[in-house]
Amino acid sequence: MNSQQPYDVIIIGGGLAGLTCGLALSGDYLSIPLKTLIVDAGPELRSRSVSADPRGSAITKSSRTMLQTLGVWEAVADQAQAFENIIVTDGRNAADTRPALLSFLEAGETGAASAWMVENATLLRALIAKVQQTDQITFIGNTAVETFDFNASPARVTTTDGRAFSAPLIVAADGRNSKARHVAGIDTVRWDYDQSGIAMTVEHELPHHGRAEEHFRKAGPFAILPLTGNRSSIVWTEQTKDAEQLMQLPEHEFLDQFKSRFGTHLGEVKLATGYAAWPLSVQIAKTFIGQRLALIGDAAHVIHPIAGLGFNLGLRDIAALSDCLGDHVRRGLDPGGQSCLKAYEAWRRADTIMVAAACDGLNRLFSNAALPVATLRQAGLKLVDRLPPLKAFFMDQAAGMAGRQPRLLRGEPD
Ligand SMILES: Cc1cc2nc3c(=O)[nH]c(=O)nc-3n(C[C@H](O)[C@H](O)[C@H](O)COP(=O)(O)OP(=O)(O)OC[C@H]3O[C@@H](n4cnc5c(N)ncnc54)[C@H](O)[C@@H]3O)c2cc1C
Repeated sequence: MNSQQPYDVIIIGGGLAGLTCGLALSGDYLSIPLKTLIVDAGPELRSRSVSADPRGSAITKSSRTMLQTLGVWEAVADQAQAFENIIVTDGRNAADTRPALLSFLEAGETGAASAWMVENATLLRALIAKVQQTDQITFIGNTAVETFDFNASPARVTTTDGRAFSAPLIVAADGRNSKARHVAGIDTVRWDYDQSGIAMTVEHELPHHGRAEEHFRKAGPFAILPLTGNRSSIVWTEQTKDAEQLMQLPEHEFLDQFKSRFGTHLGEVKLATGYAAWPLSVQIAKTFIGQRLALIGDAAHVIHPIAGLGFNLGLRDIAALSDCLGDHVRRGLDPGGQSCLKAYEAWRRADTIMVAAACDGLNRLFSNAALPVATLRQAGLKLVDRLPPLKAFFMDQAAGMAGRQPRLLRGEPD
């Protein structure tokens, strides 16, 4: 079987991370754009149903800068809701009597929000449109990558429909069960939370005024995240067995259960999308690179969604990879060579572990009903609320402004 077309990079997976990576490497951004092939097991771009994903994503300030630089944000901006205010409550109280333990005045305090809420369907639609306009990207859908030869030079893959492709660099953006990672023999550190996150969009009678609410219940966080209009994106965490039971209920009974947690403060509430549940776990690849291979997005790391940072971490991977590749290609070096890949790994893995550990700690602290832990957490939150420098630290982390930033996240040219 002969390999078709010489590509610089083959990206396995055309989800949020794979599509964004294609744009970062092959769009107008890099001074020497790379010729990229994206292969996805899902449908072709023109026939994709973006509404299949009922989740929203909190997009941090640096991620928004990156999406602006890639020419994607302009198609999203009208449907992005700034976080004006974030409150954290102890959700053990009844839904309508949950005093705020901690509040972050976002836009009001700093003059600019540090995060925006966008539906995944909106993000996907904008990414697909931009990928379709980018000549340097070839997208092949409806076929999965089946075999990998990372030791060949260039590396070689074959697909389930019998085609073969080669490129100096393979980027694995094939999600949490990454076959590329598995075939490359890269292990993960992993633990399950025995929690599932149920996600959906709801419409409510009263305005949310840009307020995000995180209610910490014993089973895990219940997040009400503001979308444009009188709509909110929900991430409702339950123990996995309870979530499975909820998903089996007829819709009106599911909605009754939901309303008892949501409360009445936003008036009448109804579903605006379907709903789905994701089992929650932490999974971090023991290395983010292999021979001619870079892992990005959920293929490299899955974290608890408590702080809405999973896709943002994927964007940081892509920005770092684009910096390393841009530098190497300008100097005439092999884009799949180990010096480029080692620079990428050094940049990304430590940051990922820090964010995953912070999210894990938050979830453990807040999903624990034992009295000493509950008392400690209330004291901790009140302390953070009163100390502006501590609050600024948490906000910088959440905005993705901590640590060394790749050029794309700063909006600087290659
Ligand atoms: C409930 C919940 C809420 C979340 N909220 C947020 C949030 O607010 N903010 C945030 O930043 N993140 C959030 N996240 C995380 C975020 O949704 C994920 O990190 C992100 O969707 C991962 O995208 P991805 O492209 O890496 O992987 P995926 O979306 O899993 O895409 C993988 C792609 O690879 C393709 N594929 C798989 N195998 C192959 C193969 N062999 N060949 C070809 N193609 C293949 C699949 O078809 C798919 O298109 C949340 C997650 C959950 C569960």
